[in-house]
Amino acid sequence: PTWERQVRHSATPRRPSGLSVLVTGAAGFVGSHASFALRKRGDGVLGLDNFNHYYDVSLKRARQDLLRARGVHVVEGDLNDSPLLSRLFDVVPFTHVLHLAAQAGVRFAMKNPQSYVASNVAGFISLLEVAKSADPQPAIVWASSSSVYGLNRQSPFSEAHRTDQPASLYAATKKAGEEIAHTYNHIYGLSLTGLRFFTVYGPWGRPDMAYFFFTKDILQGKTISLFKTQDDKEVARDFTYIDDVVRGCLGALDTAEKSTGSGGKKRGPAQLRVYNLGNTSPVPVGRLVSILEGLLGVKAKKHIVRMPRNGDVPYTHANVSLAGRDFGYRPTTDLAVGLRKFVKWYVGYYGIQSKVNKLQEGSRGGSDSK
Ligand code: NAD
Repeated sequence: PTWERQVRHSATPRRPSGLSVLVTGAAGFVGSHASFALRKRGDGVLGLDNFNHYYDVSLKRARQDLLRARGVHVVEGDLNDSPLLSRLFDVVPFTHVLHLAAQAGVRFAMKNPQSYVASNVAGFISLLEVAKSADPQPAIVWASSSSVYGLNRQSPFSEAHRTDQPASLYAATKKAGEEIAHTYNHIYGLSLTGLRFFTVYGPWGRPDMAYFFFTKDILQGKTISLFKTQDDKEVARDFTYIDDVVRGCLGALDTAEKSTGSGGKKRGPAQLRVYNLGNTSPVPVGRLVSILEGLLGVKAKKHIVRMPRNGDVPYTHANVSLAGRDFGYRPTTDLAVGLRKFVKWYVGYYGIQSKVNKLQEGSRGGSDSK
């Protein structure tokens, strides 16, 4: 049938010894970029995404359209639909899975706790259940998060630091994912590599993230809230540019060892690894805003507030030497450079160049008259 042909065609590599990768969350921010990059170098890519309504679905559809134009098919379906997953693995002998589908965001969890359990815990298990019985067993690279460091305040964060104090339900389910990975590696010999992403930003980004909605609010003349920690320090994030993160994902896929299978004693245990993928230089959120003001040519209206206990942590800071050693990961994009690319995309995507020009004239006029 046509469906099978589409799926197989999309997942077939176009270069000798190319990978065949199932990318979950392919209509998402990181997933769409990673799918592009894999396709570009000739790997086979099949996407899976449930197009949930956590944020603007039209943005996910637009990413899907772009992927389609590059020959990447995204199947609409949920991680918890085991028959669908089994069918995909029956049709395609995936060599790798890049598992990025998840319920993201820390604040949303306070009102929607169950959606985190459904996607990040049950959904991950559903995927691993199908992968463990697939032939061949794919090597799995999945997105964990810097949020697992929680209330740990040893900085920069290294993989060996404690991760037993999550500050949000999101973090708790990401941490649970790491424990679940351990179990599937131990019992079934699945090869599993976890990547702890640190505040990823860039073109086609997520509208629920601060750099994105600050841009929107500044352009709309709305007041933005800047958080200070309980002890009056500025909140800081180790903002990591999307292209750096994607390079890290590809590096992890390329160096992932094969699964050994449950009877894999002959070849020794399959690998289980966890790496930080950050930028190694935390930036206070106030600095983020001043870079945006410079790029937009518009002054922000700011309001400083004490950070509530809503799941956010005061700062994040990655040590990435492990990823550097094992697959050459090196973040190279300065925040100002990456934000320039984001703003350029934002203005183009929303078709608001003329509005931005007007705002800039207005704010130039405003400062001249002072
Ligand atoms: P995203 O929300 O843009 O992408 C996730 C995609 O997964 C979405 O398109 C969503 O529709 C899909 N999805 C969610 N639940 C699903 C389910 N049950 N079945 C099928 N599809 C489902 O988020 P992103 O920023 O691209 O994040 C990708 C991964 O990286 C996530 O696992 C996230 O937790 C992790 N992460 C992201 C960041 C960041 O700063 N962006 C930081 C740390 C970790």
